[in-house]
Amino acid sequence: MNIRVNQKNGENLSILGFGCMRFPTKGGGIDEPRAIAMIHDAIANGVNYFDTAYIYHGGKSESLLGQALLGGYREKVKIATKLPPFMVKTLDNAKKIFATQLQRLQTGYIDYYLLHMLTDKAGFDRLSSIGVLEWLEGLKQIGTVKNIGFSFHGSRADFEAIVKAYPWDFCQIQYNYMDENNQATKSGLQLAHSLGIPVIVMEPLRGGKLVNNLPTEVIKTFKSYDTNRSPAEWALRWVWNHPEVNVLLSGMSNEEQVADNIRIASDVVAKSFTQRELEVFDHVKKVMIERTKVPCTGCAYCMPCPAGVDIPGCFSSLNDKYLLKDKSARWKYMQTLGALSVNPANASRCKECGKCESHCPQNIAIRKELKVVVKEMEGIFYKPVVGVARKILRIK
Ligand code: SF4
Ligand code: SF4
Repeated sequence: MNIRVNQKNGENLSILGFGCMRFPTKGGGIDEPRAIAMIHDAIANGVNYFDTAYIYHGGKSESLLGQALLGGYREKVKIATKLPPFMVKTLDNAKKIFATQLQRLQTGYIDYYLLHMLTDKAGFDRLSSIGVLEWLEGLKQIGTVKNIGFSFHGSRADFEAIVKAYPWDFCQIQYNYMDENNQATKSGLQLAHSLGIPVIVMEPLRGGKLVNNLPTEVIKTFKSYDTNRSPAEWALRWVWNHPEVNVLLSGMSNEEQVADNIRIASDVVAKSFTQRELEVFDHVKKVMIERTKVPCTGCAYCMPCPAGVDIPGCFSSLNDKYLLKDKSARWKYMQTLGALSVNPANASRCKECGKCESHCPQNIAIRKELKVVVKEMEGIFYKPVVGVARKILRIK
């Protein structure tokens, strides 16, 4: 197993982290014996970073991980878990959730603690204003939390605002070959790295979308280089080729995936892609882009929008729906465009001022295309559903 050193605290972290949100299931719950055996196998093969969250598997992921780490395993690994901001209205809420997490994980400390799924700076400011960061710093001083970080799904601009707003110990972003210019983006990854902040990568396979339902030409292109290398292996190697990535999280669901990921993580080398391999990706991306609805490259020259629309984010969601046949695209659109955050950035906020269009190097008719996004990704139920959810969650 390859390791990369955490530049903030000197810890050796396995480049493969075990994402604990997709354990094997049986009868509607986690298949515990299998999941525990997979965790033990991963540890035996050098995996030392386990990423869970309060909400994964309906709250059962943390308990399963705690159970699996009894008997001497706990000391061999780092546990990362997350505070769900949407369940935290007061500092007391956060304290109760944290106490439950320690109990579920059967541990006295959390190695890597994240504010889960921040989407904008306003979300961070809200948590800060109720004292969450101060409280976490207190926990860090007594060793109950070792590292404070955040996971992120939002725009490049919001990522920069958040990453610069606090002396983070680490951060976690969505990154894969189709998200090079989406969400935090490659330049966001490089920014965090340049600030000395370790980066954990999630969704290297976009939740399996870069493995399933790929266009035939993409599969053929991958095979033309190496008939044995699967699309999943290509995607993982692409992420690890970036030296700025400390840990890649893989939500492993079966024994074969564990074995395969360990094999790849044991021989991959950063910045080792050959010219030919880079050409394979160039072609794959070209095919993928050709099939996209809107030829947006995510460059963000059109930003910021005075009405708060995340223009590249809107187009990325629409493209995913068609290119990857992503059935959960609408849900992800709601999530990444901040439907439940303080500052939503969805397409229907566009006031049609036209300010963005002259800046677009792709000459995209942004106003017209945003209307397509509204029709395809919001539809008639978006406003009432989001309105009710915001009322329940008391989001202004
Ligand atoms: S046209 Fe719409 S998306 Fe473009 S800047 Fe104006 S409000 Fe924003
Ligand atoms: S300027 Fe054009 S290509 Fe760049 S992000 Fe905006 S819409 Fe996309």
